[in-house]
Amino acid sequence: MPGFEIFGEEEKKEIMDVLDTGVLFRYEFIEQRKGIFKVKEFESKFAHYCGASYAQAVTSGTAALKVALTALGVGPGDEVITQGFTFVATWEAIFEVGAIPVFTEIDTTLNMDPEDLKKKITSRTKCIIPVHMLGAQARVKEITAIASAHGIPVLEDTAQAAGGRIDGRHLGTFGKCGTFSFDSVKTMTTGEGGMIITDDQELWQTMSEYQDHGHDHAVNPGGRGGESRRFIGFNYRMMELQGAIGIAQLAKLDSMISAQQENKSILKNAADKISGVTFRSLVDQQGDSATFFAFSLQDREHCKRVNDSLRNDGVGAINFAENSWHFYPQWEHLLEDKSATGSGYPFFEPGGKKRVVYDPKELPQSAELLGKTLVYPVSIKMGSELLDTMCRALEKAGSV
Ligand SMILES: *Cc1c(COP(=O)(O)O)cnc(C)c1O
Repeated sequence: MPGFEIFGEEEKKEIMDVLDTGVLFRYEFIEQRKGIFKVKEFESKFAHYCGASYAQAVTSGTAALKVALTALGVGPGDEVITQGFTFVATWEAIFEVGAIPVFTEIDTTLNMDPEDLKKKITSRTKCIIPVHMLGAQARVKEITAIASAHGIPVLEDTAQAAGGRIDGRHLGTFGKCGTFSFDSVKTMTTGEGGMIITDDQELWQTMSEYQDHGHDHAVNPGGRGGESRRFIGFNYRMMELQGAIGIAQLAKLDSMISAQQENKSILKNAADKISGVTFRSLVDQQGDSATFFAFSLQDREHCKRVNDSLRNDGVGAINFAENSWHFYPQWEHLLEDKSATGSGYPFFEPGGKKRVVYDPKELPQSAELLGKTLVYPVSIKMGSELLDTMCRALEKAGSV
């Protein structure tokens, strides 16, 4: 996830365009800005790149999820299904709109298991959020087919997979909408930032209004002060500096992905020699954004031996079963109902009634899979020395 590795003259030029006008706000200041609208330009270029009709920039990937859920009309009394292997932001956003997150198992794609999804849909399910974790595709075609049979919209959390595709079609365009993050460790970055793409004009309009205090952005003689509001909103506006960096980073995204794919294939060839190794199932190998390399061993014990050996050689891998940001049984604050609110909301109703119970043993299939899986982050500039060290360590680990 390495957009920060390749900041260069392009980003500097875009930023200077903004500083030269002195306008950091994405709206208004018509005279001073001399035609420079970086956030607007970034939105339009991002939509075009993904093959979507509309894009709405916001302050973060977490905000993107909340703005999208709000525009989809999700709220209290509703359930939203996502996977138990994701970043905490996905379910934080679900709680944030007042709904209850329900978690599915992952399958060998390390993303939402469509079979388990079928079992978790209820009459209260108002949205389904598959996450394209670790740069690669969820089985989003199967998932949207199941969802549409129930009339439920799909929101793709594409925070970790910008530029990822299935048969040439961009991730984030299969569902009703797709959200992206440009935080400082994502493939392309604006420091903090997010985006939502959709083909639905009305949905986009609602998002555009909600992220800016309800402003309808209609041209009128009174300017911004004369705009009207259909509903209450909030402030999740992206600023011009982020838009500027985003334009420069987007132009480099495809070449970032190619470099990652090359580095990943070198690691994969080396790991292939480990006896009993299997690789993460990719829905479309070519469309993998290759930000991570995941491989599975025979069982948890074998996985531990392999990682001990890799660690001894200074290149230990991540075991996401133990990761407290990304895997359900490790979210102790979720499992133990920890909330900063006086009433204990969202785990408890204001009157004290429990709203939801999470059992740490609920996702055995995911625990089994992640328990025997090791993951390396892949970046653009790994360097032949590091790659050599990793390859030699993987070959050595082949016989433990
Ligand atoms: C990073 C991330 C987010 C949140 O994005 P921020 O920009 O950091 O708020 C959401 N979902 C997933 C899967 C992520 O990895």
